[in-house]
Amino acid sequence: ACRTDLREILRAAPDMERALSRLALGRGGPRDLATIRAGLDAATRLRARLDEIAAPPAELAASGTAIGDHHGTTELLAGALADELPLAARDGGFVRAGYSDDLDELRTLRDESRKHIAALQSRYAEETGIGSLKVKHNNVLGYFVEVGSAHAERLMEGGKEAAAERHGLIHRQTMANAVRFTTVELSELDDRIARAGERSLAVELEIFEALSGHVLAAGEAIAEAARALAELDVAAGLAELAVRARYVRPALSEEPVFRISGGRHPVVEAVLDDGPGAFVANGCDLSGDAAAGAGRLWLVTGPNMAGKSTFLRQNALIAILAQIGSFVPADTAEIGVVDRLFSRVGAADDLARGRSTFMVEMVEAAAILNQAGPRALVILDEIGRGTATFDGLSIAWATVEHLHEENRCRTLFATHFHELTSLAARLPQLSCHTMRVKEWNDDIVFLHEVGPGAADRSYGIHVGKLAGLPAAVVARAEEVLRLLEAGDQAGALTRLADDLPLFQAAVSAVAEEGGDAVAADPVRALLAGADPDALSPREALDLIYRLRAAMDG
Ligand code: ATP
Repeated sequence: ACRTDLREILRAAPDMERALSRLALGRGGPRDLATIRAGLDAATRLRARLDEIAAPPAELAASGTAIGDHHGTTELLAGALADELPLAARDGGFVRAGYSDDLDELRTLRDESRKHIAALQSRYAEETGIGSLKVKHNNVLGYFVEVGSAHAERLMEGGKEAAAERHGLIHRQTMANAVRFTTVELSELDDRIARAGERSLAVELEIFEALSGHVLAAGEAIAEAARALAELDVAAGLAELAVRARYVRPALSEEPVFRISGGRHPVVEAVLDDGPGAFVANGCDLSGDAAAGAGRLWLVTGPNMAGKSTFLRQNALIAILAQIGSFVPADTAEIGVVDRLFSRVGAADDLARGRSTFMVEMVEAAAILNQAGPRALVILDEIGRGTATFDGLSIAWATVEHLHEENRCRTLFATHFHELTSLAARLPQLSCHTMRVKEWNDDIVFLHEVGPGAADRSYGIHVGKLAGLPAAVVARAEEVLRLLEAGDQAGALTRLADDLPLFQAAVSAVAEEGGDAVAADPVRALLAGADPDALSPREALDLIYRLRAAMDG
């Protein structure tokens, strides 16, 4: 209930620090004063609510003290500022009536002059006998009398001088359907109103300066209150999240442990909660008990799309959350304080600074290998993918060894180089884990579950198919994979290259889709695979030879 109250009050608290710095730079306006006032108001209410807590934790008590007492400032601002405020002080009209006698007097004068003008309008209407006569104001003429053209003709019978003589109306402007006059009285009033306006603005500006001065003099204390509000806001926000998303209090320790059970990714979980399926929680133990599958360095293999990246990032996020003092998305968490967190994820380039994608990857890897110490936490999402297969594998291999032997830090390493898992035999702190999948009717189902062991394949082609690669490409890729997996890479590649032109792959793909009739008949298959519009005469002739050969053979 206290948290709800605090968050309710905080919602009304504006950004005092920003207002304060605008005022300090001389760029502030009346609304910045109002911001300070509203912020201090919220701070005062917050403090009162904190005081109601019988035995507050030390942090809350400290926040209460930091907020301090701003009664004087809020009273002053509440008394001085009007309800509706202009953007800039020089627009005037922001000082509340009753705050300054001088100002009130000038405003009365202005208001009375307005009444006076209303009186003048009825007098002129009466004297001229023109009921529709109006006294108006614009910036060019100031106050003036306006009458319709028909009436004006009558007024000016015998010339403009006559009008002036008869009614004191001095002609200023003839318009399409109206004529405008001034009078001596109106000009005098105009002057008086303008002067009152100037003077009242001057008084208002003085008041603004005085109020700003007061606020700035209390600036230190106000800034401290603003910081206390911000801290409470973060704490209350995280607390709210912890309750709503079932977070737990992590146990922090000095030992280099990392033991999470039922860990979740705070963002992916939130997205999935609103969508199709539930998030699958996963534990992680990097505490160094290798015999129990909890080595310091986890090698995470598994198909594409199985959830490796999610798993790596969720553990890094849990460590960060724990160390900023938040609860964490897990069932239990025991975390040895991390002195540095390193991550290498995704592919990016920095071409403007002369770095290709692979160069960026290597620069990041170098930073980790050169800097990570025994208290660091490292997440490495794939390494060595942007270069030749064997170069990449070799780099990944040496990286794992170095992390294990030299850096000796807690590490999660996700990779598709399944060869790396054989290092487990030699590196005692290396634990192999894999994302579980189920093969079902030629399809695979991602369980998003981390278990001990190593993946034997990546199902990359399957994911490519899900993503919409053309059927011909998928079929050809499967064919290539089969050959490569049959061993003897060099020989397989030569055979593959001999297999050109590639459209034959398309042929077999279409054959698969087209059903048995096509598959059974090589002539029809060849025809189905040919695109008449794209054939050169030479290719057409070639096709005929091949059709003939297919028929014969
Ligand atoms: P790749 O090897 O292709 O990079 P990956 O194994 O790193 O794939 P992720 O990117 O982590 O896979 O996850 C793929 C998708 O699976 C995510 O977008 C998410 O929607 C879903 N997913 C991941 N982990 C879980 C989980 N624990 N529970 C439910 N869904 C999950």
